[in-house]
Amino acid sequence: MERPILIAGPCAAESEQQVLATAEQLQQAANAHGLELDGFRAGVWKPRSQPNSFSGVGEPALEWLSQVQRQFKLPVCVEVMNAAQVELCARYGIRMVWVGARTAVNPTEVQQLADAVRHSDFTVLVKNPLVPDLKLWIGNIERFANAGVRQVMAVHRGFPDNNENVYRNAPCWEIPIDLKVHFPDLKILCDPSHLCGSTQWIGQISQIALNYGFNGLMIESHVRPEQALSDAAQQLTPQAWGELVATLQVRTDMPNRDLICQRALLENVDTQLSELLAKRMRIVDDIAEIKRKNNLPVVQPQQWQQVTERFLKPGQDPAYQEFINQFLEILHQASIKRQNNHNE
Ligand code: PEP
Ligand code: MN
Repeated sequence: MERPILIAGPCAAESEQQVLATAEQLQQAANAHGLELDGFRAGVWKPRSQPNSFSGVGEPALEWLSQVQRQFKLPVCVEVMNAAQVELCARYGIRMVWVGARTAVNPTEVQQLADAVRHSDFTVLVKNPLVPDLKLWIGNIERFANAGVRQVMAVHRGFPDNNENVYRNAPCWEIPIDLKVHFPDLKILCDPSHLCGSTQWIGQISQIALNYGFNGLMIESHVRPEQALSDAAQQLTPQAWGELVATLQVRTDMPNRDLICQRALLENVDTQLSELLAKRMRIVDDIAEIKRKNNLPVVQPQQWQQVTERFLKPGQDPAYQEFINQFLEILHQASIKRQNNHNE
C-alpha cells in the first residue's frame, strides 16, 4: 500500500490568524513526524442543522485560504454547495472542492456542481450521502467523472444512525468497501472526525480504515479546538494530529487482512460494550435515586426477570446461555450494590 493521502485542517475557517496558524503548525507537525501533508481542509460556507449556529465566514475566508496555498504550497479543499461557490473558489485559485454529506443526498444539486466544475481543474472529493445508499454515492461520483474531472476521490464519513452507538455516525464499513469493489481505482479517504464526533475514537477508526485499505484520511484540526466555532469536540490540535497519524500502521504486506479487519471490528465492539456498560451504571444510579425518593425496594424480581429475557433467546447454544446467565448474575449484583450505596 502506498502512504496514505493526508488532508487536515479546521472544520471551518474562522479568522485569518486561525487559518494561517493551523496550516503552519500542521506543516510543522508533519515535518516533525516525517509525514507529508497533501491538503488543507476548511469550511467556508457551513451547512448547519441549527439556523443560529456559525455558518462560515464566506468569501473573505477564500483570501486567507489562497494565502495558505501560496505560503505553505498546500492545496486547499473547500466544501461547495452551489455553482456560485464553485465560481468563487475558482476565482481565488482554490485547488480542491468537496461535496458534503447533505448536498450529496440531492442528485440535482450534485449535477449542478458537476456542471460547474466541468471546465476547471479542481480535484473533487465526494462524501458519502447522509443516507446509506450506495447507488446514490456511486451516481454522484459518476456525475463528476462524466464531467471530465480528472481527480475524483470519495470520502467516507459514516451514516447518521439512531441505534446505540458510541460514535456520532455508524461506520457501515461495508458501504465504502462495496464502493471500492465498484470502482477499484477510486481513491477513498476516511473522515474519522465526522464519523466519531469526538477526538476520543479518531485513532481507532483511522487504523481500521487503513486496515481496510482506505487510501487516506481527512481529519479536522484546529489550533485551539476548545474555542472552535463548530465541531469543537472532534478537532485535534496540529500537534495531536501529528502524534496520532504517526502512530498509525500502514502495512504494505498484509499477510492476513481478514484477521486484521475482524480484530479491528472486535475492538470496535469492545469499545461500544465498555461505553454501554458505563452508561447502564449511570442509568442504574438514576433509578436508585427514584426508588429512594419513592421508598421502593431496590430488588424487584419481576423486573430482573425481564432483563434476563432480553438476553436469553430460545434455541441459543446452552454453553452461551450459561455464559449469559453468569454475566447477568454479576451485572445484577453490581447493580444492587450500586443502588444500595444510594441508601446508605
Ligand atoms: C465537513 O467536513 O465540514 C462537513 C460538514 O462534513 P459532512 O458533510 O461530512 O458533514
Ligand atoms: Mn466539521
